[in-house]
Amino acid sequence: MIFEPYDIIVVGAGHSGCEAAAAAANLGSRVLLVTMDLRLFASMSCNPAMGGVAKGQIVREIDALGGYSGIVSDRTMIQFRMLNKSKGPAMWSPRCQSDKMMFSAEWRRMLEKTSNLDFWQDTVTGLIIEGDQVRGVRTLMGGDIHSKAVVLSNGTFLNGIIHIGEKHFSGGRMGENASYGITEQLKEAGFESKRLKTGTPVRIDGRTIDFSKLIEQKGDDDVVGFSYIEPFRIQKQRSCWIAHTSLKVHETLRKGFKYSPMFNGRIQGVGPRYCPSIEDKIERFSGKDSHQLFVEPEGWNVEEYYLNGFSSSLPDDIQYEALRQIEGFENAKIYRPGYAIEYDYFPPEQLHHSLETRLVHGLFFAGQINGTTGYEEAAGQGLMAGINAHRVIHDLEPLVLSRSQAYIGVLIDDLITKGVDEPYRMFTSRAEYRILLRQDNADSRLTAMSYEMGLAKEDRYQALLRKQDKVSEIINCLSEAYVHPEEVNTLLERNQSSVIDQKVRVSNLLLRPQIALNQLIETLPFLSEKFNLSDRFTKECLEEAEIQIKYESYINKEYELAEKLSRLENVKLPSDFDYHQLTSLSYESREKLIRYKPETLGQASRISGISPADISVLAIFLGR
Ligand SMILES: Cc1cc2nc3c(=O)[nH]c(=O)nc-3n(C[C@H](O)[C@H](O)[C@H](O)COP(=O)(O)OP(=O)(O)OC[C@H]3O[C@@H](n4cnc5c(N)ncnc54)[C@H](O)[C@@H]3O)c2cc1C
Repeated sequence: MIFEPYDIIVVGAGHSGCEAAAAAANLGSRVLLVTMDLRLFASMSCNPAMGGVAKGQIVREIDALGGYSGIVSDRTMIQFRMLNKSKGPAMWSPRCQSDKMMFSAEWRRMLEKTSNLDFWQDTVTGLIIEGDQVRGVRTLMGGDIHSKAVVLSNGTFLNGIIHIGEKHFSGGRMGENASYGITEQLKEAGFESKRLKTGTPVRIDGRTIDFSKLIEQKGDDDVVGFSYIEPFRIQKQRSCWIAHTSLKVHETLRKGFKYSPMFNGRIQGVGPRYCPSIEDKIERFSGKDSHQLFVEPEGWNVEEYYLNGFSSSLPDDIQYEALRQIEGFENAKIYRPGYAIEYDYFPPEQLHHSLETRLVHGLFFAGQINGTTGYEEAAGQGLMAGINAHRVIHDLEPLVLSRSQAYIGVLIDDLITKGVDEPYRMFTSRAEYRILLRQDNADSRLTAMSYEMGLAKEDRYQALLRKQDKVSEIINCLSEAYVHPEEVNTLLERNQSSVIDQKVRVSNLLLRPQIALNQLIETLPFLSEKFNLSDRFTKECLEEAEIQIKYESYINKEYELAEKLSRLENVKLPSDFDYHQLTSLSYESREKLIRYKPETLGQASRISGISPADISVLAIFLGR
């Protein structure tokens, strides 16, 4: 097969590869997406859901930057919930259940509508590297295909081994081949690679579940969605269900422990601590009599259910026996057992913040290959790798998002300055500027920048301007309008907030934690005439205006802190800096600085084990 050279080749059509291909092609590069199976775009290897705590924020950021994950999620969701709504807005996190098959099909449809993007179904077996520059890929069928940059997003496929009890066999995912050759070649070229593992639960035939014994979990009445420009909102939703394990279930599972590849040492890779298998949970929390499980439908028109929380690599007969001891599952039949998969990843300290490798120019890594877990984490990296692969071949400075700009910035900075010792998953606690990185304002944080760069298109930018105008109009109105005691004291008393004895600005009342803007609108006719709560756009803008007023002082404080710390980000550390000579640094610090090679003083300050005193030493040495 003869291919014309491409600008960029993306290997793997997982969540990261799809975003990378879309971003690079939309920026104008000629892109080829090579993947093993063109029927599986952004396949959901595990749970049929997008978003969740901190992950939902990432999907909104991807959308704000002009990526596709938010739009695809909106079009294929079967249930939507805004998690943590009872907490402060920094914690609000959109999450949806997705129709797995539709999700994949919609991704394919979106990519096939994207200009500059070609597809080729094949297995990449190696890279073409000349000196320290990547020149393309080697494939099983198509031979050599040349390009100026390559994004590797192989997910869990590199030397993947699937484990179910004592059975183990090669595979990249259940029913799909593993990938060989790439790890071996890169190790030869000087890269370090290690093993990680992840797991997935049993899938159940819904016709055999007794739902009357489970607790129903409906979606929100108000579906917010992920995309800032997508007008599509589902009209009906499918429910999820809650079930519980019992001591009897745990006893049955324990019978299989001696065959467990995790406990008998056959699995060497480290698994995700925050997403443990059921056997892990039973072992670690042995005092707990029961664990909560979520029963999640895999689509609109299928009877397959995913049992969230029951991930396992125990023998399939043990999984089945234990499942049938859970209330509601007495007669359950399964479509497939849970399994664990072990795979190669490349410790991400080997990357620049652009996701380009330090060893080979033009070679980018994105997604699970960097030691992360999760569709959203993968998609966020893919988007950035696609953007930066485009920028590097056009001699443009890389786009690096800061920790105060985006969760994607936190994610990539954590990977590169701290590395991973287990599959990395995003949490809100990883971000120091949570009140800045809210799900509602990802467009304000990122869209203008993406528009200037050429990725976010005119419609998205205009939508942002429209929203910002409306929010400013609301804030001005609430700051200028006064309310009198007789208009509002009944509401204040009802909400156990002190009454007023003279007129006050509406915005001042909003500073009280007990008072919500929608209550004021419902109480004050001059506001309800002005702002129609049943209009979706107005409602979204009111919510953002309310957050900006209520949390203004916190927001300003975080901006100030981010601004102060950003000064450290501007102090560059020379790449050939000899840390050995700085004997006033602790030995540990020197070792870490040599290993992680931070590019700025800010990055150095976030490496664990590097103290503020070490940063001062470096700053003094650099003449600061
Ligand atoms: C069993 C299992 C359980 C999981 N459990 C969880 C979980 O509990 N929670 C969670 O958040 N995430 C989980 N994940 C992880 C989640 O699926 C991934 O984080 C996410 O899909 C990674 O996206 P990616 O784009 O990096 O790779 P993937 O989605 O894995 O996609 C990789 C793509 O690369 C292609 N490919 C690979 N090698 C080659 C090659 N040599 N040539 C051509 N194409 C190639 C594959 O065909 C595939 O399309 C699990 C994954 C698996 C497999």
